[in-house]
Amino acid sequence: MNSIAKNIEVTKKRIDNVCLKVGRSSDEVKLLLATKTVPAEIIKQALIFEKNLIGENKIQELCQKHPLLKNESVEFHFIGHLQTNKIKEVVKYASCIQSLDRIELAEKLDQRLQFEGKSMDVLIQVNTSYEESKFGVSPEKALSFAKEVSQYDTLKVKGLMTIGLFNSEKEKTRKCFKLLSNIRNEIAELALRNFDMMELSMGMSNDLEIAIEEGATIVRVGTAIFGSRIYPDSDYWDEQKDIK
Ligand SMILES: *Cc1c(COP(=O)(O)O)cnc(C)c1O
Repeated sequence: MNSIAKNIEVTKKRIDNVCLKVGRSSDEVKLLLATKTVPAEIIKQALIFEKNLIGENKIQELCQKHPLLKNESVEFHFIGHLQTNKIKEVVKYASCIQSLDRIELAEKLDQRLQFEGKSMDVLIQVNTSYEESKFGVSPEKALSFAKEVSQYDTLKVKGLMTIGLFNSEKEKTRKCFKLLSNIRNEIAELALRNFDMMELSMGMSNDLEIAIEEGATIVRVGTAIFGSRIYPDSDYWDEQKDIK
């Protein structure tokens, strides 16, 4: 077994262990491979499931890797900050956008999807850590945002996504995940049109156990499988860098 396959086994074991601990079934938790900066040739080594879930952060990388992987059994989610001028590409290649974070984006996506006669799964990204460098709707605005999004029939809202607080005590990270789970329940109670609030996409290499304890249904794992990245994550999250 190569090292990537081995890392996936270890990650799966981590998922299984925490599920066992909290009495959840491992089938409830999907492992999404966060593949930013990872070349297609390397990603291929990680495609060991019947159905593989990949998350890309940049349209450029999505467009580059999608053709190289299209013969594999993969589904692409978009997990990065999405600029409205990249909507055409994301609609073409991704099956789900996990980073819906503003109405302007919902509106433009809906226009494009209507034009193509398609619909698209989306998750609403919530900024549960209140860090300025992170994107996402603020927790206080999440309900009203959800109501606005429900007017767009092409957007099928499947749940919420967040990035937990890093480098801090576990309990602070847990607070982010608890908050996301509470917001999910509140939105679910509204029973909005086009909403089916099953998914909670939260938890990464360092905090997936806490996320699963708090109800994650998708964990997004990069470093623990592919090793550390040579580019700083700010290249993928910071608005200033995005505009450059
Ligand atoms: C990079 C990234 C991940 C994976 O993070 P790791 O710490 O490498 O596991 C998850 N979610 C998003 C949105 C990311 O950009």
